[in-house]
Amino acid sequence: MEKREFDVVILGGGPGGLSAGLYAARGELSVGVVDVSMFGGQPSNYLELENYPGFKRIGGYELMEQFEEHADMFGVEKFPMQEIESVDLVSSPKIIKTKQVEFAAKSVILATGAKPMKLGVKGELEFAGRGVSYCAVCDGAFYKNKIVTVVGGGNSAIEEAIYLTQFASKVYVVHRRDELRADKIIQMRAFNNSKIEFIFDSVVEEICGDELVNKIIIKNVKTGLMSEIATNGVFPYIGIVPNVEYINGQIAQDSKGFILTDETMRTSQEGVYAIGDVRNTPLRQVITATADGAIAAVYATKYVQIQKEVTV
Ligand code: NAP
Repeated sequence: MEKREFDVVILGGGPGGLSAGLYAARGELSVGVVDVSMFGGQPSNYLELENYPGFKRIGGYELMEQFEEHADMFGVEKFPMQEIESVDLVSSPKIIKTKQVEFAAKSVILATGAKPMKLGVKGELEFAGRGVSYCAVCDGAFYKNKIVTVVGGGNSAIEEAIYLTQFASKVYVVHRRDELRADKIIQMRAFNNSKIEFIFDSVVEEICGDELVNKIIIKNVKTGLMSEIATNGVFPYIGIVPNVEYINGQIAQDSKGFILTDETMRTSQEGVYAIGDVRNTPLRQVITATADGAIAAVYATKYVQIQKEVTV
């Protein structure tokens, strides 16, 4: 197995990880960024962003490509397609093992992001890829002139529902309350879209079909009444869960698993920082992940410099 040593190893190459990499490498540290897949994280799948300052409208993939090129410019070393097998965040140096490489690092920045939460209803797993999808940008085009249902009332659900109206003949939005959580500007766009029909106070009980999904059973949470909706696709957008399986109790987390940090992004473990969607944060945006990355890199740099002075 290849062995590599770095001042800082960053786990996760989304906007937070790449921004931390850029800042740390520019601060003259040796930096390795490790990702389970290619770089860019969740925003690579966003069709368009219109709230990243300086870019009135930019494709998610295009923006993340620019992040990556910018990190390259400062000599960040990238390790794509590396599944984390184990981490020791307590030892000095800290050790991260993937199948291919054993990394030793003075400091580690955790930027592993989050993944879609499952509905946990009958039919969800069975019909995954056959009518159940968690990525409208990836799969929306399969639903040309078909009926789809988005579940959830947050920014993701409502933005993706609007996106799906480009293809689908009708988009139902099933939400468990009678008020949306999404930003008002996004809500207004959805309310003004004639293809979108809201079904409030309702939850999905079951996803049904033969080869492919053809209907869902929903329950009105106020009346208890059950009903069926004919639909060809179901897109659950009910929030996210952090990618933290590798942590194994070495770092303090909140009740949902998000990593706890202070305002310098420091975790409960010395020399370990957490940034972006994986940490307990009030706002999950490209800009906040990016800002987290800058803060963590600056404090990781200070930490590494102290470690170097101690060992001289
Ligand atoms: P979110 O904001 O947490 O919204 C999740 C939605 O799903 C809520 O409406 C919630 O209902 C509902 N929900 C949760 N659990 C459910 C369950 N078991 N069954 C049915 N419904 C359930 O998640 P998100 O929309 O994925 O967004 C995640 C983060 O990314 C947020 O901070 C969001 O602002 C951000 N984001 C921002 C943008 C943007 O600014 N353009 C775009 C996408 C995402 P309740 O409302 O009743 O809790």
